[in-house]
Amino acid sequence: MVEKNYYVCTGCGMLCDDIEVESEKNTVNKVYTACRVGVAHMKDGKESAAFRVDKKPVDEAAAISEAAAILKNAKNPLIFGLGSSSSEAQELAIELARKTNATLDDASSFSLGKVIEALLNNKFKVCTLDDVRNKADVSIFWGTDPSDSHPRQLSKHAYFPRGTEKQRGWEEERTAICIDVRKSHTAKICGNYFFQIPPGGDAEFIDAIIAALAGKLPKTSYNFPPKRILELANILKGAKFGVVFVGLGLVYSLNNIEPLIRLMNALNEKANFHLVPMVRQYNMLGFNEKLFKETGYVNSVKFEDGTVKHGPEYSIVESLKAKTVDAALIVGSDLFSILPGSIAKNLREIPMIVIDPCETLTSRNAKVYISTAIGGVESGGSAVRMDGVKVDFKPAVETKRPSDEAVLKEIMEAL
Ligand code: SF4
Repeated sequence: MVEKNYYVCTGCGMLCDDIEVESEKNTVNKVYTACRVGVAHMKDGKESAAFRVDKKPVDEAAAISEAAAILKNAKNPLIFGLGSSSSEAQELAIELARKTNATLDDASSFSLGKVIEALLNNKFKVCTLDDVRNKADVSIFWGTDPSDSHPRQLSKHAYFPRGTEKQRGWEEERTAICIDVRKSHTAKICGNYFFQIPPGGDAEFIDAIIAALAGKLPKTSYNFPPKRILELANILKGAKFGVVFVGLGLVYSLNNIEPLIRLMNALNEKANFHLVPMVRQYNMLGFNEKLFKETGYVNSVKFEDGTVKHGPEYSIVESLKAKTVDAALIVGSDLFSILPGSIAKNLREIPMIVIDPCETLTSRNAKVYISTAIGGVESGGSAVRMDGVKVDFKPAVETKRPSDEAVLKEIMEAL
């Protein structure tokens, strides 16, 4: 019998909760409402499980027992990833890190971590995506291309839709602005409101906007036309409900986020502006929130006999570079594809446990590989959306593969 139901898509940090799915015999056949990324994600399930030790197939119990032995024998294991795991699995991973005196980090340490930490320390005014849909009249996409990374954002929240206070939607009542180094798909949608700046020119552009907001002549070393910046500042000053969507392009360009804090403060002296980080993995914010609640830090921590240390030396990049970790548990991250080869190669020198729904370059190099269910497709749980809203999700189909949560629980029990 064909089943039709609504599900949450875990394809990106937007966690769209209006996804209609038709499935039969534990296979997703049709996906409605989702974007192209979401459709591919929802159809990615596989019924069969894979467990390997030393590249040879084993049963689940043998894989768990080997994983536990690796962690038990390590003096300083590294636990990394978890942005694509349920909140329940993340809680277990933090507990596991405490128990094994591990270094614990996630992808935010080389992406949006600093923005998220400032946000959790109440340095920015925040809002939900529902607020954006209902109220926003000005949205700025800075160093981000949601048309590619979060494809439904403009249609569901930021530009096109009708909301309670924005009945006409679209450009009659909303202005979408893109600031970027290249003419992305989002930049093309923003038309005349696309401001192309040179790579590394973001901090200067922020200062120019702040000057223009204060009625001064905005200047940049790259001679961006002052008239256009003054026009931009006028739009921003008139915003009744503005949002800045912060992407990696902006974060990578700034040495620190102090200019961004200054910009948000300046905008809020003249208008009403909020910040939303463009979180890519569906539950990275959930991990950052949990770790922050427990330790006061969003990433790069080292547990040691009941104490917590924090610093860049405990990030994945620095700990692998300095070879301070002697085993690794990687959950849902293809580090061999993400990290520079000169750093990733150090993972080959230590025993590596990989828990991942997908076969990746990293899983193929693992001492222990455990294939897990895809959250939201094959297993249920909860997550924190990119705007901080908690979302519960259920599986669309069944699988023989265990969830991340189940695997981490078993490893913990076997320690
Ligand atoms: Fe899924 Fe993100 Fe697309 Fe929404 S925008 S359907 S959460 S991939």
